[in-house]
Amino acid sequence: MKCLFCGSDINKNLKINEIFSLNKINPNYICNLCRSQVIPLAGRNNCSRCFKPNSGRICDDCLIWEEKYHIINCHHALFEYNQFIHSYFKLYKRYGDVLLARLFYQDIMQWSSLHHFDVVTYIPASPSHLLERGFDPVYELYSEVFDLKKLLIKADADKPQAQKNRLERLQTPQTFSARPEIRTIPKDKSILILDDIYTTGRTLMYAREIFLAQNLHNVTTFSLSR
Ligand SMILES: [Zn+2]
Ligand SMILES: [Zn+2]
Repeated sequence: MKCLFCGSDINKNLKINEIFSLNKINPNYICNLCRSQVIPLAGRNNCSRCFKPNSGRICDDCLIWEEKYHIINCHHALFEYNQFIHSYFKLYKRYGDVLLARLFYQDIMQWSSLHHFDVVTYIPASPSHLLERGFDPVYELYSEVFDLKKLLIKADADKPQAQKNRLERLQTPQTFSARPEIRTIPKDKSILILDDIYTTGRTLMYAREIFLAQNLHNVTTFSLSR
């Protein structure tokens, strides 16, 4: 098997027990060299709400969310946003290499096996992005691991998030609305909303608000990177 990112061979150094239990191993799509360039976030004194590393308790950003918008954040993320993750998303989203959706399959699978939710949904692409790209990047990233429900609709924004500075991102108006299926979810169900990257948290906060408006309060959010 070749690394989806750099094309080098992987699985060259399987341990003997792995060779004899190949069917039980989650497929691995990333080589050790590429893996060494991603920095895990877990266990780094993360903010208990947004998973920001080296925060100690609740970080200032989350206190602002609570004070200003009365929203209690609950977010998990796997990797720090660094040069490798930047290049990964550039190839995956901007250049449309849809196969890269599987690069972190093992990591997402492992996280999902440790966290249970009744309903799992995702941040959908807006209609113009979907048309332009031909695939929905967040859906593709998680669809092999989770049974994804499409519950949100995203309207086309004035300009893409990636082209906005921090202030512009924070000031982006609500672009989500609820699909009718959302009303059929029992109010006590736990919800997980998936996204690719957490930057200011604004996108996931808006998504969370859609669920809160339906009296669904048990909401956790997750992103591959933050
Ligand atoms: Zn590689
Ligand atoms: Zn925080």
